[in-house]
Amino acid sequence: MADSYVLGWILCSVMALVALCGVVLRRQKWKGISMRTEPMKTVLTRNGECGSADASHADIIIVGAGVAGSALAHTLGKDGRRVQVIERDLSEPDRIVGELLQPGGYLKLIELGLEDCVEEIDAQQVFGYALFKDGKHTQLSYPLEKFHSDVSGRSFHNGRFIQRMREKSASLPNVHLEQGTVTSLLEEKGIIRGVQYKTKDGPELTAFASLTIVCDGCFSNLRRSLCNPKVDIPSSFVGLVLENCHLPYSNHGHVILADPSPILFYPISSTETRCLVDVPGQKVPSIANGEMANYLKTIVAPQVPPEIYDSFVAAVDKGNIRTMPNRSMPAAPHPTPGALLMGDAFNMRHPLTGGGMTVALSDIVVLRDLLRPLQDLNDAPMLCKYLESFYTLRKPVASTINTLAGALYKQDLSPCCLV
Ligand SMILES: Cc1cc2nc3c(=O)[nH]c(=O)nc-3n(C[C@H](O)[C@H](O)[C@H](O)COP(=O)(O)OP(=O)(O)OC[C@H]3O[C@@H](n4cnc5c(N)ncnc54)[C@H](O)[C@@H]3O)c2cc1C
Repeated sequence: MADSYVLGWILCSVMALVALCGVVLRRQKWKGISMRTEPMKTVLTRNGECGSADASHADIIIVGAGVAGSALAHTLGKDGRRVQVIERDLSEPDRIVGELLQPGGYLKLIELGLEDCVEEIDAQQVFGYALFKDGKHTQLSYPLEKFHSDVSGRSFHNGRFIQRMREKSASLPNVHLEQGTVTSLLEEKGIIRGVQYKTKDGPELTAFASLTIVCDGCFSNLRRSLCNPKVDIPSSFVGLVLENCHLPYSNHGHVILADPSPILFYPISSTETRCLVDVPGQKVPSIANGEMANYLKTIVAPQVPPEIYDSFVAAVDKGNIRTMPNRSMPAAPHPTPGALLMGDAFNMRHPLTGGGMTVALSDIVVLRDLLRPLQDLNDAPMLCKYLESFYTLRKPVASTINTLAGALYKQDLSPCCLV
């Protein structure tokens, strides 16, 4: 059990650090770029009409309206930027990722004025973790005593959360959200000037902006134009939804330190519990030929707590088993004039600790504070130089979460190393 306590201690430290670190980041000033003295008027005109964003003359293009893109669109739109967001699929995502927002991430949502996006989606409050190993268990609470009672983790259906943020950003008159797939970045003499994108049945379109922010997620096709990605896939998560299952510790994430790899459970609504089973390596048992169901029933089920066993087996029998590769990729800044990478397109870590959304939201706060004083984003080389400090300013939060996610995942695979 000693290793469980050490793991628990580290987990709680992560949450505490994320909660407390970098809540306030100072604004940067730089002489080379003109500073904004007054907030820009948020109303744009198109054909003389108020209230519609002129998509062809945006200040900023955002590629992808997932967690990072939709939060960023609202943030920059609220600051008066004309934002064009191009998202491949505007229907509600149905995924097994990004379902538990840590308390530090919730604090970032508050800083961004987006905390209402976890309301009305049957989100559940999360107050800490329960750890299980070899039939023993213990409970660890987030150190949130000093915060308002509303501050806690939140777990939910990822798609519901994203739709709330998309709706909120699209409600701003200067944010133009449209469905389309970005196929390439437009480059002119080493400067990114915008994007080319395709709509469902229409022709290929072109959009220009002073700054293009690529938030196209973990499978990013565009990041290769902006960095030299080194993606590692140490394992995959196998996802199931357990119905009407009563977790031993309500409103807590459950981590089972199983063999060969951890199993997670947490509520994603008032009636559903997400189960993620880590399967090491790059191959997972086949779902189609029944190997996966067999693996889950014979190797995994005997290790889940008895209170969860029946719901777990019922979920396997129901058959809605999904998998997702767990990627990690260090942030490798390659500053490119006119463009920036954010979210999973820029930096990924093992999702065992559920830190990805917190990093993305924290980065958005850093970027917002950097961009806020700038009136004019047109001088791409100067802006690029100015934004180099983004990579330094994001480190206290991002590196902490990334390092601990990697360390915890590796440690857990050889629990004897933990003590
Ligand atoms: C199995 C798993 C579980 C996870 N669980 C958690 C968790 O519990 N908590 C947590 O904080 N993090 C978790 N994460 C990480 C988290 O999901 C990500 O960090 C987060 O979703 C990153 O947001 P994003 O906006 O960068 O990417 P996404 O949210 O994936 O958004 C990318 C968007 O870009 C769009 N897009 C892609 N290509 C294009 C294109 N060419 N043109 C236009 N649009 C495009 C996509 O449709 C999508 O909407 C998990 C990750 C995995 C793999």
